[in-house]
Amino acid sequence: MARKVGILGGTFDPIHIGHLRGAIEVAEQLGLDELRLIPSARPPHRDTPAVSAQDRLAMVELAVAGLPPLLADDRELQRAQASYSIDTLESLRVELAVDDQLFLLLGWDAFCGLPSWHRWQQLLNHCHLLVLQRPDAGGTLPPVLLELLAARRVPDAQALSGPSGQILLVAQAPLAVSASHIRQLLGSGKSARFLVPDAVLAYIHAHGLYPASN
Ligand code: ATP
Repeated sequence: MARKVGILGGTFDPIHIGHLRGAIEVAEQLGLDELRLIPSARPPHRDTPAVSAQDRLAMVELAVAGLPPLLADDRELQRAQASYSIDTLESLRVELAVDDQLFLLLGWDAFCGLPSWHRWQQLLNHCHLLVLQRPDAGGTLPPVLLELLAARRVPDAQALSGPSGQILLVAQAPLAVSASHIRQLLGSGKSARFLVPDAVLAYIHAHGLYPASN
């Protein structure tokens, strides 16, 4: 039987409860067999984080331990070049059966910026897109994305078929937490408890990540 595999990329600097709740909700909603959290070693659209990719991966591993179907996936750390999603999808496709469904999870903001991604027009050859839409999501889409939605959007999860090629908008109310806020808290000597799993916080302290600057 065809498997359903999702991937969520991010810098995870550090991973937090917003990532984890979002991942769990989508995995349950879509009935995913696996949801792979993939830390970006060299994010192409932002500065390389001060915390190493190995530490960010270790935090993801701690956060998803014993939390199936969530998994940590280190494939972007194995590549020397920038972490492009198209390369990640191609490498995963080699490991899957031809009829397995692959889902790339994207926030609405990321979707709006899709046309700037490396080889973006080939993404849908390998996966379906799950666009996580906040209830308050604003912003006008460029014509090229309006056309893409008109051609590829399906109305609900039941209408998704085949291994790749469709777009589903998934309503999701994100928790008001971000990695930058957590870095700010820790950098000013404040607590990040209950915003990241305790095991992740213990790792942060044990390795002296995000040191207080005063
Ligand atoms: P930063 O604050 O450093 O920009 P971030 O918290 O937004 O980081 P990323 O690692 O950049 O985290 O995000 C990875 C993915 O997780 C993105 O697709 C993003 O939309 C999603 N995400 C981030 N924060 C939340 C949240 N609070 N709820 C749901 N999804 C989130």
